[in-house]
Amino acid sequence: MHSAPAAAGPEKPLSALRTLFGYVRPYRGTLIAGGVVSFLGGILGLAAPLATKEVLDTLSAGGDLTGPVLLMAVLFVLAAALHAGGTYLLERTGENVVRGVRVGLVGRIMRLRVRELDQNRPGDLMARVTSDTTLLRQVSAESLANTVNGVLLLIGALVVMVFMDLVLLLVTAGVVLMMMVCEALVLPRIGRATGQAQAALGEIGSDLERTLGAFRTVKASGAEARETDLIAGHVDLARRAGYTVAAWHAVATMTAGLAIQLAFLAVLGVGGARVLSGDLPISSLVAFLLYLYYLNRPIDWLTVGATQLQVGLAAVHRVRDVEQLKVEEPAPVTVTAPQGEPGAATVEFAGVSFRYREDTELVHNDLSFVAPAGSMTALVGSSGAGKSTVFALLERFYEADRGSVTIDGRDVRDWPLHELRRTIGYVEQDAPVLHGTLRDNLRFAAPEATDEQIRQVLELTRLDSLLRRLPEGLDTAVGHRGTTLSGGERQRIAIARALLRYPRLLLLDEATSQLDSVNEAALREVVADIAGTTTVLVIAHRLSTVASASQILVLDAGKVRASGTHRELISDDDLYRQLAATQFAAASVLEPTGPEA
Ligand code: ADP
Repeated sequence: MHSAPAAAGPEKPLSALRTLFGYVRPYRGTLIAGGVVSFLGGILGLAAPLATKEVLDTLSAGGDLTGPVLLMAVLFVLAAALHAGGTYLLERTGENVVRGVRVGLVGRIMRLRVRELDQNRPGDLMARVTSDTTLLRQVSAESLANTVNGVLLLIGALVVMVFMDLVLLLVTAGVVLMMMVCEALVLPRIGRATGQAQAALGEIGSDLERTLGAFRTVKASGAEARETDLIAGHVDLARRAGYTVAAWHAVATMTAGLAIQLAFLAVLGVGGARVLSGDLPISSLVAFLLYLYYLNRPIDWLTVGATQLQVGLAAVHRVRDVEQLKVEEPAPVTVTAPQGEPGAATVEFAGVSFRYREDTELVHNDLSFVAPAGSMTALVGSSGAGKSTVFALLERFYEADRGSVTIDGRDVRDWPLHELRRTIGYVEQDAPVLHGTLRDNLRFAAPEATDEQIRQVLELTRLDSLLRRLPEGLDTAVGHRGTTLSGGERQRIAIARALLRYPRLLLLDEATSQLDSVNEAALREVVADIAGTTTVLVIAHRLSTVASASQILVLDAGKVRASGTHRELISDDDLYRQLAATQFAAASVLEPTGPEA
C-alpha cells in the first residue's frame, strides 16, 4: 500500500536524457530560436576582446579612437539585448515543456488502474505533478541551450586562441580539461542528492494527505504533535539533501572559478616570459588574457547548465516512474450517447476467482450467480465476504483471475470501458461528495442532466427539503468532501447522482446505512420503482432492504453459499439465520428514529 513508484535515481542518465529530449521535442522550434539568439549574443561578446585589441593597437599607433570605441559600445548593447531576448524565448520554452508534462501526467493519473493507486500514495503522486515538473522548467530549455552554447563558445574561444598563441592555448586547454574532469566527478552527486530531496518532498505530500484526509480523527486522537513531528522528519530529510546539493554546487562553482584563475596565472607567467623574450607582442598577451577572462562565461554556462541538467534528470526519473504505471484504455475523445441496449441489464458471474494480491487469499473462489434483468438482488454476508468486490469487478476496477463476469452476456473485459461504466450507476460505501456546488456534485456522473431532471431526482431522493434549506440552492458549495452535510444527506446525494445517470444497472453499496427509517423507506420505494427498468444489486444490511429483494445471495468463503428469498433462507440457511439475528437486528436497533444526524 505504501510503496512509492520505483525510487528515483540517476542510474540511467542516457535514457533519462532521451526522455527529456522527448519532452522538449514538441517545442524545439522556440528552443532552437532562443538558443540561436543567445548564441549570437555570446558571439558578439566574443568579438569584444578583438575590438579591445583594435583599440590598443590604434592607441599605440597614435590613431583616432572614436571608431573602435563606438564599435565596442554597439557590440555591448547588441550582445546584452540578444542575450535578454534569447533568455525570454528559452524560459517560454521551459514553461511549455512543464505544461506539456503536467497535463500528460494528470491525464495519465486519471486513467491509472485502481490497482496502481492501491499501491501508490496520492500525496507522492501530487508532488510529482507539481514540484518535480517545476524542476524541468529550467533544464528543458535554459540549461539545454546553455550547455550547447557553452560548448560552442568554449570551442569558438579556443579556436580564436589558436591563432593568437599556441603555447598559451595549450596551457589554457590543460587547465580547462582538468576542470572538466573534476566537474564530471562532482555533478552526478548533485543529481543524486536532488533525487533524495524530491523524494522527501513526495513523502511530505503523502504525510499531509494522510493527515488532512483524516483531520477530525487526528484532532480527536490528539495526534497533532506526533503528525507534525512525522512530517518535520521528512522536511529535515529534504533539508539534509538540500545541504548536500548546496555543498556540491559550491564545489562545482568553485572548481570552475578556480580553473579560470589558475589558467590566468599560468598564462600570465608563461606569456609574460614570452613577451620579455620578444616572442609575443604585449597586445596579444592582453587580448589573450581578455579571452581567458571571457572564457568565464561559457564555462559558467557549462557549469550551471550541467548542474541544472543533473537536477532536471532527477526530476525526469520521478516523472517517468508515474508514466510507467499501468493505465486503463483511454476513453474516446468525443463521448457519444450510450450505445448499449436500452432497458435493464443482465448480470452473470460464472466461476469467478479473484484475489487482490498474489500473496493474499482468494476473495472470490468459484463465485457464480445470475442477476436477471430488472431484478433486485441483495448481497449479504459477513464483513469481508467479498460483497464490495463483486461491484469492483463489475466496474472493472479489477479483473477476475478466473471465470467470467458478464453484462448482457458480454464479458466486461470485452466492453469498451467507457461504455461499460456508462451502463452502471454506482453508489460507493462512503458516498463521496466532492468539493464544489450541489449541482456539480449531482451532475458529476451525468454532466448533460438538465435542471428539471435534477429537480425530479432530488424529489425522489427526498433531498428537496435540503435544497430549500441551502442558501444558494443548487449553487451552494458543499465543502471539501461534503463536510457541511450530514452522512445521510451525503448518501442521498450519491444516490441521486447515480440515478441521474439513468443506469441500466444500479450498484448500491450499503448506500442507505446512514438514513433514518422514513428516508430509507422512501428510497426503498424509489429503488423498487426503478427495478424493472434497471437491474439493482444492493449490498444489504437491513432487513427492510433484503425483504424487498427478488433474490438474496448469501456470500461466504468466496462463493454463493445459498440463495432465495428472505423466508426461504431463514428456514434453510444457518448463516443467513445468524446474519438476520445479528446484523439485521443490530441495524434495526441502531436505526435512528429521527432525521439522520
Ligand atoms: P465486503 O464488502 O463483503 O465487506 P470486500 O469485498 O470489501 O468485503 O473485501 C473482501 C476482502 O478483500 C476483505 O478481506 C478485504 O480486506 C480485502 N480487500 C478489499 N479491498 C482490497 C484492496 N483494494 N486491496 C487488498 N485487499 C482488499
